[in-house]
Amino acid sequence: MTPTKLLARALLCLLLLSTIANTIAAQRRSPAPRNRTIAAIVRDIDARNIEQTIRKLVSFGTRNTLSEQNDPNRGIGAARDWLYAEFLKAAEASGGRMTVEKQSYEQPKAARVPQPTIVTNIVATLKGTQPESTDRIYVVSGHYDSMCNSPTDAKCDAPGANDDASGTAAVLEMARVMAKHEFEATIVFMAVAGEEQSLLGATHFAEQAKQKNWSIDAMFTNDIIGNTLGGNGVRDRGSVRVFSEGVPSNETPAEANTRRSVGGENDSASRQLARFIKEMGERYVPQMKVMMIYRRDRYGRGGDHIPFLERGWPAVRFTEVNEEFRHQHQNVRVENGVQFGDLPEFVDFAYVANVARVNAVSLAVLALAPARPKGVTILSQRLSNDTELRWEVNKEPDLAGYEIVWRETTAAVWTNAQAVGKVTTFTMKGMSKDNYFFGVRAIDKDGNRSPVVYPRPLGRNQQANPTSSTSTTSAP
Ligand SMILES: [Zn+2]
Repeated sequence: MTPTKLLARALLCLLLLSTIANTIAAQRRSPAPRNRTIAAIVRDIDARNIEQTIRKLVSFGTRNTLSEQNDPNRGIGAARDWLYAEFLKAAEASGGRMTVEKQSYEQPKAARVPQPTIVTNIVATLKGTQPESTDRIYVVSGHYDSMCNSPTDAKCDAPGANDDASGTAAVLEMARVMAKHEFEATIVFMAVAGEEQSLLGATHFAEQAKQKNWSIDAMFTNDIIGNTLGGNGVRDRGSVRVFSEGVPSNETPAEANTRRSVGGENDSASRQLARFIKEMGERYVPQMKVMMIYRRDRYGRGGDHIPFLERGWPAVRFTEVNEEFRHQHQNVRVENGVQFGDLPEFVDFAYVANVARVNAVSLAVLALAPARPKGVTILSQRLSNDTELRWEVNKEPDLAGYEIVWRETTAAVWTNAQAVGKVTTFTMKGMSKDNYFFGVRAIDKDGNRSPVVYPRPLGRNQQANPTSSTSTTSAP
């Protein structure tokens, strides 16, 4: 090699290194401005309200879905009416933007439903204020039903303090705190029933939403978020698990084929959502670590996010890190000096409040930020060491532009970002799509970023019309 060529190579290397260094430095310098709305939400979420809600829900004796519906003091009906009244109180601060409804249906006989039973969700909807964003919906839920040993025992005491008064209380507290603030997109705060009877309430809501053609951009379920001393003896008050699936539950074989061919098994929309929650949660709630779990739910188990995943919407589950099975789905009793049962004395209310904060800041940024870019593609058939990305332009008036993010293929989270301005195509020079994963996110004038969209491959014969091949943002 001639000295001139060597020098040219060295210069190129230096240029590349300084670009990477600049990108990292830019990320450090400019985290989204510490939004006043978000700071207020973090401050206003109060563990004392969460404790009161949990103790009140426990006071109904049982909230089994098959229990009494018309007794004012005991059973799921009493819990339903109390929650409805509490969400209505929360809505008072919204100036008419939050509406509350009881969404009921009759569940026919089923495996865990011995006779036809009314299942009622309490649904509080905080309408988005930006016309271009108000149809974009975020759903956060907990389940207010409970069970003891048998899911069909409607008589036994089933306090359900952790499973799942904790999640229900977190959602009610978020509704109370967030109703005061305006968001561009719509947020639905929901307490569902029938979870222990096979995700009945959540499935009903998701199916109704599908039939109404709602655009649900993300769903969070909070289920078992209050115990900080595990059955394994480990005390952890500073972490929460966020479960996300890698390969979408609703994917067709053809879509799965495409995903396999480009190594997208770790880049579903739900997984981008989990990465987003980790980034926002740890930024605004620094006392909490978001432990991403790369699976749909705990081993062989399920939750209320699944009916949403099955209908093609990104969804995740929040749960404490170390579970204590002596305090879940147990008849309340003492055996050999050991207390069994899901009692409030085993719930760490300050921890539930922190999990609620992680939820709330993530929801707030989602509902303040632009939508995820649509139609994101990568030109896959051009043999090149450059990577060319394309997407459709967002419609929000406060859009500032886009960022390309990337990471090595074995990295768990996005490690680099580069602002590229208000464009709909960008080429990463000298960075091969073979060696990195790339994604695109939208950013608004306040610095709020959308979750990342992982591109679909766009073949040579599709290049003439880049926007026609993709109609949804949810996959891969
Ligand atoms: Zn549960």
